[in-house]
Amino acid sequence: MAISKSTILKILSKAPIGFLFKPFYSGEGSILFMHKVVLNKDKNASRIPLMAANEIEVDFLEKMILFLKKKKYEFISLDELHYRLENPEKKSKKFIVFTFDDGYKDNLTLAYPIFKKHNVPFTIYLTNCYPNKTAKLWWYMLEDILLENTIFSLKVGDLFVEHSCKTQKEKENTFGKLRTLIISSAPEKQNEIIEALEKKYSKSLQTYVENESLNWDEVKKLSEDSLVTIGGHSLNHLTFNKLNKEEILTEVLGSKQEIEKNIDKEVAHFAYPFGTSNEINQREVEILEENTNFKTATTTRMGNIFLDHKQSCFALPRIQVLGNQQNLSILNLYLTGVLPAIKNRFKKIVTL
Ligand SMILES: [Zn+2]
Repeated sequence: MAISKSTILKILSKAPIGFLFKPFYSGEGSILFMHKVVLNKDKNASRIPLMAANEIEVDFLEKMILFLKKKKYEFISLDELHYRLENPEKKSKKFIVFTFDDGYKDNLTLAYPIFKKHNVPFTIYLTNCYPNKTAKLWWYMLEDILLENTIFSLKVGDLFVEHSCKTQKEKENTFGKLRTLIISSAPEKQNEIIEALEKKYSKSLQTYVENESLNWDEVKKLSEDSLVTIGGHSLNHLTFNKLNKEEILTEVLGSKQEIEKNIDKEVAHFAYPFGTSNEINQREVEILEENTNFKTATTTRMGNIFLDHKQSCFALPRIQVLGNQQNLSILNLYLTGVLPAIKNRFKKIVTL
């Protein structure tokens, strides 16, 4: 009998094994990342798990802050994290840095009041096409299309895909395949596929970005609070290893300059779009290291932060708080280092 990943997680979260890993794999602390915050999830609604993973309930966010407070974690900003890496000394308390990717409106309307209430700093890594309202949030459109249809087919140039989408499993598989197809395509091809989807299934991508993303006034308002750091996340959230060096620098430096102009503050931190080994590797990190003056840049590799990361400030790993888990015991498995150790085959310092 095959044991599912979620069963293994449940067993691990009940087993008192954190203390075995903590001395070696918890490091000095962790950078957590999330995307959207929502009020309450409809437990009966059919969802694509990858999408549900990107949504944290606001109550869970608060529970998590209280849990971490009780466990004596210290909440710090990215500037403070950078200072600690530059001026290393062992601290008795472990730290947590909260980060949000992309620039969703709910970061202001739902998350910000919770952080304010508990006086906890956090960062929003902003993709400029969100406040510019030009972002193509195709993943939401794709989820809607797959949930609404029992068969999926699309023809773009010489590309033809057709998948049965009757069952939840089929919908999930199709979502995974199309997501990979879109992300791994060059920008022009991506646009062609997205436009073909809109046309075939009568959807308007514009409504998604209008409703879901922060505008510049809201970004500015957030940036005026000393608890909030606005970081960069590129102009258009493209796949960096599909771009040449000049294109990457336009995406990165163009984003930094435009945000700085809008908030009247320096942007000192960056998160690579996507950030897995499928998109970000040595070449991309070196391009940023050699041509930008950010203090830190983060990936989506799974790992905790160690003082030795001073050598790799442009490839800092993070821990995703998954909206389809929302479980404090599982969060503890990440922070104590159990899951990062397993994922990285017991490598301690995760960079690339
Ligand atoms: Zn992103």
